[in-house]
Amino acid sequence: MTNIQAAKIEELKEQFKGEVLLPSDDLYESARKIWNAMIDKHPAIIARCATTSDIVRTVNFARDNGLLLAVRGGGHHIAGNAMCDDGVVIDLSKMKAASVDPGARRVTIEGGATLADLDAATQAYGLATPVGINSTTGVAGLTLGGGFGWLSRKYGMTVDNLESAEVVTATGEVVRANASEHPDLFWALRGGSGNFGVVTRFEFRLHPVGPNVLSGLIVYSISEAKSVLQQYREFIAKAPEELSVWTVLRQAPPLPFLPAEVHGKPIIALALLYAGDPKQGEPLIEPLRKFGTPLGEHVGEQPYTAWQQAFDPLLTPGARNYWKSHNFSTLKDGLFDTVIDYIDKLPSPQCEIFFGALGGATTRPTPESTAYLTFPVKSETQSVKAL
Ligand SMILES: Cc1cc2nc3c(=O)[nH]c(=O)nc-3n(C[C@H](O)[C@H](O)[C@H](O)COP(=O)(O)OP(=O)(O)OC[C@H]3O[C@@H](n4cnc5c(N)ncnc54)[C@H](O)[C@@H]3O)c2cc1C
Repeated sequence: MTNIQAAKIEELKEQFKGEVLLPSDDLYESARKIWNAMIDKHPAIIARCATTSDIVRTVNFARDNGLLLAVRGGGHHIAGNAMCDDGVVIDLSKMKAASVDPGARRVTIEGGATLADLDAATQAYGLATPVGINSTTGVAGLTLGGGFGWLSRKYGMTVDNLESAEVVTATGEVVRANASEHPDLFWALRGGSGNFGVVTRFEFRLHPVGPNVLSGLIVYSISEAKSVLQQYREFIAKAPEELSVWTVLRQAPPLPFLPAEVHGKPIIALALLYAGDPKQGEPLIEPLRKFGTPLGEHVGEQPYTAWQQAFDPLLTPGARNYWKSHNFSTLKDGLFDTVIDYIDKLPSPQCEIFFGALGGATTRPTPESTAYLTFPVKSETQSVKAL
Protein backbone atom coordinates (compact mmCIF):
# COMPACT_ATOMS: atom_id res chain seq x y z
CA MET A 1 0.00 0.00 0.00
CA THR A 2 1.35 3.41 -0.90
CA ASN A 3 0.51 6.36 1.35
CA ILE A 4 -2.00 7.65 -1.17
CA GLN A 5 -3.81 4.31 -1.13
CA ALA A 6 -3.76 4.26 2.68
CA ALA A 7 -5.44 7.68 2.73
CA LYS A 8 -8.03 6.46 0.27
CA ILE A 9 -8.70 3.38 2.39
CA GLU A 10 -9.47 5.69 5.32
CA GLU A 11 -11.92 7.48 3.00
CA LEU A 12 -13.53 4.15 2.08
CA LYS A 13 -13.91 3.27 5.75
CA GLU A 14 -15.79 6.50 6.47
CA GLN A 15 -19.55 5.83 6.61
CA PHE A 16 -18.89 2.16 5.79
CA LYS A 17 -21.53 0.11 7.66
CA GLY A 18 -19.69 -3.22 7.36
CA GLU A 19 -15.98 -3.93 7.89
CA VAL A 20 -12.98 -3.07 5.76
CA LEU A 21 -10.35 -5.76 6.43
CA LEU A 22 -6.66 -5.32 5.63
CA PRO A 23 -3.89 -7.98 5.81
CA SER A 24 -2.88 -6.63 9.24
CA ASP A 25 -6.39 -7.23 10.68
CA ASP A 26 -7.11 -10.30 12.85
CA LEU A 27 -10.12 -11.34 10.76
CA TYR A 28 -8.27 -11.09 7.44
CA GLU A 29 -6.85 -14.67 7.42
CA SER A 30 -10.21 -16.33 7.98
CA ALA A 31 -11.95 -13.89 5.61
CA ARG A 32 -9.68 -14.80 2.68
CA LYS A 33 -10.40 -18.54 3.04
CA ILE A 34 -13.05 -20.04 0.81
CA TRP A 35 -14.58 -23.52 0.51
CA ASN A 36 -11.82 -24.99 -1.67
CA ALA A 37 -8.56 -24.99 0.31
CA MET A 38 -6.60 -25.14 -2.98
CA ILE A 39 -7.33 -21.41 -3.34
CA ASP A 40 -4.76 -19.29 -1.53
CA LYS A 41 -5.20 -15.69 -2.66
CA HIS A 42 -4.23 -12.51 -0.82
CA PRO A 43 -6.48 -9.55 -1.61
CA ALA A 44 -5.28 -6.07 -0.60
CA ILE A 45 -8.70 -5.29 0.90
CA ILE A 46 -11.69 -7.39 1.90
CA ALA A 47 -14.77 -5.18 2.13
CA ARG A 48 -17.42 -6.97 4.20
CA CYS A 49 -20.37 -4.97 2.98
CA ALA A 50 -23.50 -4.64 5.09
CA THR A 51 -25.61 -2.49 2.76
CA THR A 52 -26.07 -1.72 -0.92
CA SER A 53 -24.37 1.65 -0.36
CA ASP A 54 -21.29 -0.18 1.05
CA ILE A 55 -21.19 -2.14 -2.23
CA VAL A 56 -21.52 1.04 -4.32
CA ARG A 57 -18.69 2.69 -2.36
CA THR A 58 -16.43 -0.36 -2.81
CA VAL A 59 -17.14 -0.69 -6.54
CA ASN A 60 -16.36 3.02 -7.02
CA PHE A 61 -13.21 2.69 -4.88
CA ALA A 62 -11.88 -0.28 -6.91
CA ARG A 63 -12.70 1.36 -10.25
CA ASP A 64 -11.27 4.78 -9.35
CA ASN A 65 -8.04 3.19 -8.07
CA GLY A 66 -7.66 0.75 -10.97
CA LEU A 67 -7.86 -2.27 -8.64
CA LEU A 68 -9.05 -5.74 -9.57
CA LEU A 69 -12.45 -6.48 -7.99
CA ALA A 70 -13.76 -9.92 -6.96
CA VAL A 71 -17.13 -10.73 -5.40
CA ARG A 72 -17.67 -13.37 -2.74
CA GLY A 73 -21.18 -14.80 -2.36
CA GLY A 74 -21.02 -18.17 -0.57
CA GLY A 75 -17.36 -18.77 -1.55
CA HIS A 76 -18.00 -22.24 -3.07
CA HIS A 77 -16.64 -21.59 -6.54
CA ILE A 78 -14.09 -24.38 -7.10
CA ALA A 79 -11.80 -22.22 -9.25
CA GLY A 80 -11.80 -19.57 -6.52
CA ASN A 81 -13.14 -16.59 -8.46
CA ALA A 82 -14.55 -15.16 -5.23
CA MET A 83 -11.00 -14.10 -4.26
CA CYS A 84 -8.24 -12.19 -6.04
CA ASP A 85 -4.61 -11.34 -5.42
CA ASP A 86 -3.77 -7.72 -4.58
CA GLY A 87 -7.21 -6.35 -5.46
CA VAL A 88 -10.45 -5.71 -3.59
CA VAL A 89 -12.94 -8.39 -2.54
CA ILE A 90 -16.58 -7.51 -1.95
CA ASP A 91 -17.56 -10.05 0.71
CA LEU A 92 -21.34 -10.39 1.02
CA SER A 93 -21.38 -12.74 4.03
CA LYS A 94 -23.14 -10.11 6.16
CA MET A 95 -25.96 -9.72 3.63
CA LYS A 96 -28.26 -12.74 4.01
CA ALA A 97 -31.71 -11.29 4.70
CA ALA A 98 -34.71 -12.94 3.06
CA SER A 99 -38.31 -11.86 2.76
CA VAL A 100 -41.10 -14.13 1.53
CA ASP A 101 -44.45 -13.08 0.06
CA PRO A 102 -46.37 -16.37 0.40
CA GLY A 103 -49.44 -15.02 -1.43
CA ALA A 104 -47.47 -14.02 -4.51
CA ARG A 105 -45.12 -17.02 -4.06
CA ARG A 106 -42.03 -14.86 -4.24
CA VAL A 107 -38.86 -14.59 -2.15
CA THR A 108 -36.36 -11.74 -2.16
CA ILE A 109 -32.96 -12.67 -0.75
CA GLU A 110 -29.64 -10.85 -0.39
CA GLY A 111 -26.49 -11.78 -2.32
CA GLY A 112 -24.58 -13.32 0.61
CA ALA A 113 -27.24 -15.87 1.56
CA THR A 114 -26.62 -19.61 1.44
CA LEU A 115 -29.03 -22.24 0.20
CA ALA A 116 -29.75 -23.07 3.88
CA ASP A 117 -30.85 -19.43 4.43
CA LEU A 118 -33.09 -19.58 1.34
CA ASP A 119 -34.64 -22.97 2.16
CA ALA A 120 -35.27 -21.98 5.81
CA ALA A 121 -37.09 -18.79 4.77
CA THR A 122 -39.26 -20.37 2.07
CA GLN A 123 -40.00 -23.68 3.82
CA ALA A 124 -41.59 -21.73 6.68
CA TYR A 125 -44.45 -21.38 4.14
CA GLY A 126 -44.13 -24.83 2.52
CA LEU A 127 -42.54 -23.23 -0.55
CA ALA A 128 -39.21 -23.66 -2.36
CA THR A 129 -37.33 -22.83 -5.52
CA PRO A 130 -34.86 -25.22 -7.21
CA VAL A 131 -31.30 -24.81 -5.90
CA GLY A 132 -28.30 -27.12 -5.31
CA ILE A 133 -27.76 -30.13 -3.11
CA ASN A 134 -25.33 -28.70 -0.53
CA SER A 135 -26.87 -26.18 1.84
CA THR A 136 -23.69 -24.17 2.47
CA THR A 137 -23.43 -23.14 -1.22
CA GLY A 138 -24.08 -19.47 -1.98
CA VAL A 139 -27.36 -18.51 -3.65
CA ALA A 140 -25.54 -15.84 -5.69
CA GLY A 141 -22.86 -17.86 -7.48
CA LEU A 142 -25.17 -20.83 -7.92
CA THR A 143 -27.88 -18.70 -9.53
CA LEU A 144 -25.51 -16.70 -11.73
CA GLY A 145 -24.03 -19.96 -13.05
CA GLY A 146 -27.42 -21.58 -13.80
CA GLY A 147 -28.16 -23.67 -10.71
CA PHE A 148 -29.73 -27.11 -10.54
CA GLY A 149 -30.75 -29.60 -7.87
CA TRP A 150 -33.45 -32.01 -6.76
CA LEU A 151 -36.37 -29.80 -7.87
CA SER A 152 -34.99 -28.90 -11.31
CA ARG A 153 -36.67 -31.66 -13.31
CA LYS A 154 -40.01 -30.42 -11.99
CA TYR A 155 -39.45 -26.65 -11.74
CA GLY A 156 -36.40 -25.89 -13.93
CA MET A 157 -32.97 -24.40 -13.38
CA THR A 158 -32.54 -21.80 -10.63
CA VAL A 159 -32.18 -19.11 -13.33
CA ASP A 160 -35.49 -20.18 -14.85
CA ASN A 161 -37.10 -19.14 -11.56
CA LEU A 162 -35.36 -15.77 -11.27
CA GLU A 163 -37.88 -12.92 -11.56
CA SER A 164 -35.56 -9.97 -11.02
CA ALA A 165 -32.24 -8.87 -9.53
CA GLU A 166 -30.92 -5.66 -8.00
CA VAL A 167 -27.45 -4.99 -9.38
CA VAL A 168 -24.65 -2.51 -8.70
CA THR A 169 -23.05 -1.92 -12.09
CA ALA A 170 -19.37 -1.16 -12.75
CA THR A 171 -20.26 2.56 -12.85
CA GLY A 172 -21.69 2.31 -9.32
CA GLU A 173 -25.30 2.66 -10.47
CA VAL A 174 -27.99 0.58 -8.70
CA VAL A 175 -30.36 -0.94 -11.27
CA ARG A 176 -33.16 -3.47 -11.29
CA ALA A 177 -32.92 -6.11 -13.99
CA ASN A 178 -35.92 -8.14 -15.09
CA ALA A 179 -37.79 -9.05 -18.26
CA SER A 180 -38.69 -5.39 -18.96
CA GLU A 181 -35.97 -3.37 -17.16
CA HIS A 182 -32.41 -3.87 -18.46
CA PRO A 183 -33.46 -7.12 -20.19
CA ASP A 184 -29.98 -7.63 -21.69
CA LEU A 185 -28.41 -7.55 -18.21
CA PHE A 186 -31.16 -9.86 -16.94
CA TRP A 187 -30.32 -12.31 -19.77
CA ALA A 188 -26.59 -12.22 -18.89
CA LEU A 189 -27.17 -12.72 -15.16
CA ARG A 190 -29.10 -15.92 -15.86
CA GLY A 191 -26.12 -18.22 -16.43
CA GLY A 192 -23.35 -15.80 -17.41
CA SER A 193 -21.75 -16.16 -13.94
CA GLY A 194 -19.91 -13.13 -12.43
CA ASN A 195 -18.65 -9.97 -14.14
CA PHE A 196 -22.00 -8.32 -14.96
CA GLY A 197 -22.18 -6.26 -11.78
CA VAL A 198 -22.67 -7.12 -8.12
CA VAL A 199 -26.09 -8.60 -7.41
CA THR A 200 -27.32 -7.26 -4.09
CA ARG A 201 -30.62 -9.18 -4.05
CA PHE A 202 -32.41 -11.84 -6.05
CA GLU A 203 -36.17 -12.32 -6.45
CA PHE A 204 -37.32 -15.90 -7.15
CA ARG A 205 -40.63 -17.59 -7.96
CA LEU A 206 -41.62 -20.24 -5.41
CA HIS A 207 -43.49 -23.54 -5.65
CA PRO A 208 -45.30 -25.69 -3.09
CA VAL A 209 -42.78 -28.28 -1.81
CA GLY A 210 -42.86 -30.43 1.34
CA PRO A 211 -42.48 -29.67 4.15
CA ASN A 212 -41.92 -33.48 4.05
CA VAL A 213 -40.62 -35.17 0.91
CA LEU A 214 -39.89 -38.77 -0.05
CA SER A 215 -36.13 -38.94 -0.38
CA GLY A 216 -33.05 -40.94 0.48
CA LEU A 217 -30.36 -43.37 -0.66
CA ILE A 218 -30.32 -46.94 -2.00
CA VAL A 219 -26.83 -48.47 -2.03
CA TYR A 220 -25.46 -51.31 -4.20
CA SER A 221 -22.08 -53.02 -4.39
CA ILE A 222 -19.72 -51.75 -7.07
CA SER A 223 -19.82 -55.27 -8.56
CA GLU A 224 -23.39 -54.44 -9.67
CA ALA A 225 -22.52 -50.96 -10.89
CA LYS A 226 -22.71 -51.59 -14.63
CA SER A 227 -26.08 -53.28 -14.43
CA VAL A 228 -27.37 -50.59 -12.01
CA LEU A 229 -26.22 -47.83 -14.38
CA GLN A 230 -27.80 -49.54 -17.40
CA GLN A 231 -31.12 -49.89 -15.56
CA TYR A 232 -30.82 -46.31 -14.27
CA ARG A 233 -30.44 -45.10 -17.87
CA GLU A 234 -33.71 -46.80 -18.88
CA PHE A 235 -35.52 -45.79 -15.68
CA ILE A 236 -34.68 -42.10 -15.73
CA ALA A 237 -35.66 -41.73 -19.40
CA LYS A 238 -39.25 -42.59 -18.43
CA ALA A 239 -39.39 -41.21 -14.88
CA PRO A 240 -41.93 -38.47 -14.11
CA GLU A 241 -40.53 -34.97 -13.68
CA GLU A 242 -41.34 -35.03 -9.95
CA LEU A 243 -38.76 -37.78 -9.48
CA SER A 244 -35.04 -37.00 -9.49
CA VAL A 245 -32.52 -39.81 -9.14
CA TRP A 246 -28.75 -39.27 -9.24
CA THR A 247 -26.09 -41.98 -9.02
CA VAL A 248 -22.92 -41.62 -6.98
CA LEU A 249 -19.89 -43.91 -7.25
CA ARG A 250 -17.39 -43.67 -4.40
CA GLN A 251 -16.08 -45.47 -1.31
CA ALA A 252 -18.91 -46.03 1.18
CA PRO A 253 -18.92 -43.49 4.01
CA PRO A 254 -19.62 -44.97 7.48
CA LEU A 255 -23.37 -44.55 7.15
CA PRO A 256 -25.27 -46.26 9.99
CA PHE A 257 -27.67 -48.08 7.64
CA LEU A 258 -24.76 -49.84 5.86
CA PRO A 259 -23.07 -52.95 7.34
CA ALA A 260 -19.68 -52.07 8.89
CA GLU A 261 -17.85 -54.37 6.46
CA VAL A 262 -19.06 -52.19 3.55
CA HIS A 263 -17.61 -48.96 4.99
CA GLY A 264 -14.69 -47.79 2.87
CA LYS A 265 -15.53 -50.22 0.03
CA PRO A 266 -16.49 -48.95 -3.45
CA ILE A 267 -20.25 -48.67 -3.91
CA ILE A 268 -22.83 -47.16 -6.21
CA ALA A 269 -25.63 -45.22 -4.52
CA LEU A 270 -28.92 -43.99 -5.94
CA ALA A 271 -29.92 -40.67 -4.36
CA LEU A 272 -33.53 -39.66 -4.92
CA LEU A 273 -36.18 -37.09 -4.20
CA TYR A 274 -39.85 -37.13 -5.20
CA ALA A 275 -41.20 -33.56 -5.47
CA GLY A 276 -44.85 -34.41 -4.91
CA ASP A 277 -47.15 -36.29 -2.55
CA PRO A 278 -44.86 -38.87 -0.89
CA LYS A 279 -47.61 -41.53 -1.08
CA GLN A 280 -47.71 -41.17 -4.87
CA GLY A 281 -43.92 -41.38 -5.03
CA GLU A 282 -43.64 -44.69 -3.13
CA PRO A 283 -44.72 -47.05 -5.97
CA LEU A 284 -42.68 -45.04 -8.46
CA ILE A 285 -39.41 -45.63 -6.63
CA GLU A 286 -40.04 -49.35 -6.04
CA PRO A 287 -38.16 -50.46 -9.23
CA LEU A 288 -35.01 -48.73 -7.91
CA ARG A 289 -34.87 -51.33 -5.13
CA LYS A 290 -34.78 -54.14 -7.70
CA PHE A 291 -31.77 -53.06 -9.76
CA GLY A 292 -29.78 -55.71 -7.86
CA THR A 293 -29.31 -56.73 -4.22
CA PRO A 294 -29.15 -53.51 -2.15
CA LEU A 295 -26.47 -53.39 0.55
CA GLY A 296 -28.77 -51.06 2.47
CA GLU A 297 -31.16 -48.18 2.06
CA HIS A 298 -32.33 -45.10 3.92
CA VAL A 299 -35.44 -43.87 2.14
CA GLY A 300 -38.52 -42.30 3.63
CA GLU A 301 -40.42 -39.11 4.33
CA GLN A 302 -38.25 -36.41 5.84
CA PRO A 303 -38.28 -32.60 5.89
CA TYR A 304 -37.16 -31.11 2.57
CA THR A 305 -34.66 -28.95 4.51
CA ALA A 306 -33.13 -32.10 6.07
CA TRP A 307 -32.59 -33.71 2.65
CA GLN A 308 -31.12 -30.42 1.39
CA GLN A 309 -28.50 -30.75 4.15
CA ALA A 310 -28.00 -34.53 3.93
CA PHE A 311 -24.77 -34.26 1.91
CA ASP A 312 -23.25 -31.40 3.94
CA PRO A 313 -21.15 -33.77 6.12
CA LEU A 314 -19.49 -35.15 2.94
CA LEU A 315 -18.91 -31.68 1.45
CA THR A 316 -17.15 -29.82 4.21
CA PRO A 317 -15.02 -26.70 3.65
CA GLY A 318 -11.25 -26.78 4.00
CA ALA A 319 -10.36 -29.80 1.83
CA ARG A 320 -8.21 -29.42 -1.28
CA ASN A 321 -10.61 -29.95 -4.17
CA TYR A 322 -10.26 -30.63 -7.90
CA TRP A 323 -13.53 -31.01 -9.83
CA LYS A 324 -14.54 -31.32 -13.44
CA SER A 325 -17.89 -31.94 -15.10
CA HIS A 326 -19.31 -32.95 -18.48
CA ASN A 327 -22.74 -32.78 -20.09
CA PHE A 328 -24.07 -35.94 -21.73
CA SER A 329 -27.24 -36.25 -23.79
CA THR A 330 -26.86 -40.05 -23.88
CA LEU A 331 -25.16 -42.47 -21.50
CA LYS A 332 -23.19 -45.14 -23.35
CA ASP A 333 -21.96 -48.47 -21.95
CA GLY A 334 -18.37 -47.47 -22.71
CA LEU A 335 -18.76 -44.45 -20.42
CA PHE A 336 -19.98 -46.74 -17.63
CA ASP A 337 -16.96 -49.05 -18.14
CA THR A 338 -14.55 -46.12 -17.90
CA VAL A 339 -16.19 -44.66 -14.80
CA ILE A 340 -16.26 -48.02 -13.01
CA ASP A 341 -12.63 -48.61 -13.93
CA TYR A 342 -11.67 -45.28 -12.32
CA ILE A 343 -13.62 -45.95 -9.12
CA ASP A 344 -11.01 -48.58 -8.26
CA LYS A 345 -8.30 -45.94 -8.61
CA LEU A 346 -9.83 -43.10 -6.57
CA PRO A 347 -7.00 -41.57 -4.56
CA SER A 348 -9.00 -40.81 -1.39
CA PRO A 349 -12.27 -41.65 0.42
CA GLN A 350 -13.53 -38.14 -0.38
CA CYS A 351 -13.38 -38.65 -4.17
CA GLU A 352 -16.50 -39.45 -6.14
CA ILE A 353 -18.03 -39.51 -9.59
CA PHE A 354 -21.72 -38.77 -9.85
CA PHE A 355 -24.36 -38.59 -12.55
CA GLY A 356 -27.05 -35.95 -12.02
CA ALA A 357 -29.92 -36.55 -14.45
CA LEU A 358 -31.64 -33.28 -15.32
CA GLY A 359 -34.02 -33.22 -18.30
CA GLY A 360 -37.67 -32.40 -17.60
CA ALA A 361 -38.37 -28.72 -17.06
CA THR A 362 -34.71 -27.75 -17.55
CA THR A 363 -35.01 -28.49 -21.26
CA ARG A 364 -38.11 -26.35 -21.90
CA PRO A 365 -36.63 -22.81 -22.13
CA THR A 366 -34.98 -22.21 -25.50
CA PRO A 367 -31.16 -22.06 -25.33
CA GLU A 368 -31.29 -18.37 -26.41
CA SER A 369 -33.61 -17.33 -23.57
CA THR A 370 -30.86 -17.18 -20.93
CA ALA A 371 -27.07 -17.10 -20.93
CA TYR A 372 -27.07 -20.60 -19.45
CA LEU A 373 -26.68 -23.03 -22.31
CA THR A 374 -29.21 -25.81 -21.89
CA PHE A 375 -27.99 -27.93 -24.75
CA PRO A 376 -30.81 -29.39 -26.84
CA VAL A 377 -31.80 -32.92 -25.86
CA LYS A 378 -33.96 -35.24 -27.92
CA SER A 379 -37.29 -36.06 -26.33
CA GLU A 380 -36.37 -39.69 -25.66
CA THR A 381 -33.12 -38.78 -23.89
CA GLN A 382 -32.23 -36.87 -20.76
CA SER A 383 -29.46 -34.42 -20.08
CA VAL A 384 -27.12 -35.84 -17.47
CA LYS A 385 -24.32 -34.11 -15.65
CA ALA A 386 -21.39 -36.21 -14.47
CA LEU A 387 -19.10 -34.73 -11.85
C1 LIG B 1 -19.94 -28.66 -2.27
C2 LIG B 1 -20.53 -28.03 -3.49
C3 LIG B 1 -21.75 -28.49 -3.97
C4 LIG B 1 -22.32 -27.91 -5.10
N1 LIG B 1 -23.53 -28.36 -5.55
C5 LIG B 1 -24.13 -27.76 -6.60
C6 LIG B 1 -25.43 -28.16 -7.03
O1 LIG B 1 -26.04 -29.09 -6.51
N2 LIG B 1 -25.99 -27.48 -8.06
C7 LIG B 1 -25.36 -26.45 -8.68
O2 LIG B 1 -25.95 -25.86 -9.60
N3 LIG B 1 -24.12 -26.06 -8.31
C8 LIG B 1 -23.50 -26.69 -7.29
N4 LIG B 1 -22.25 -26.31 -6.90
C9 LIG B 1 -21.53 -25.30 -7.69
C10 LIG B 1 -21.87 -23.90 -7.16
O3 LIG B 1 -23.16 -23.54 -7.56
C11 LIG B 1 -20.86 -22.90 -7.72
O4 LIG B 1 -19.58 -23.20 -7.24
C12 LIG B 1 -21.24 -21.48 -7.36
O5 LIG B 1 -20.38 -20.59 -8.04
C13 LIG B 1 -21.16 -21.23 -5.86
O6 LIG B 1 -21.71 -20.00 -5.53
P1 LIG B 1 -21.12 -19.18 -4.29
O7 LIG B 1 -21.87 -17.90 -4.18
O8 LIG B 1 -21.03 -20.06 -3.10
O9 LIG B 1 -19.65 -18.97 -4.84
P2 LIG B 1 -18.61 -17.75 -4.89
O10 LIG B 1 -17.29 -18.46 -4.95
O11 LIG B 1 -18.82 -16.76 -3.80
O12 LIG B 1 -18.95 -17.07 -6.23
C14 LIG B 1 -18.96 -17.76 -7.46
C15 LIG B 1 -18.85 -16.77 -8.63
O13 LIG B 1 -19.97 -15.89 -8.64
C16 LIG B 1 -19.54 -14.54 -8.43
N5 LIG B 1 -20.46 -13.91 -7.48
C17 LIG B 1 -20.76 -14.38 -6.22
N6 LIG B 1 -21.68 -13.60 -5.67
C18 LIG B 1 -21.96 -12.63 -6.55
C19 LIG B 1 -22.85 -11.52 -6.54
N7 LIG B 1 -23.64 -11.27 -5.51
N8 LIG B 1 -22.89 -10.71 -7.63
C20 LIG B 1 -22.09 -10.96 -8.71
N9 LIG B 1 -21.24 -12.00 -8.78
C21 LIG B 1 -21.17 -12.82 -7.70
C22 LIG B 1 -18.13 -14.65 -7.87
O14 LIG B 1 -17.38 -13.53 -8.14
C23 LIG B 1 -17.61 -15.89 -8.55
O15 LIG B 1 -17.18 -15.58 -9.86
C24 LIG B 1 -21.64 -26.86 -5.77
C25 LIG B 1 -20.41 -26.42 -5.31
C26 LIG B 1 -19.85 -27.00 -4.19
C27 LIG B 1 -18.49 -26.57 -3.72
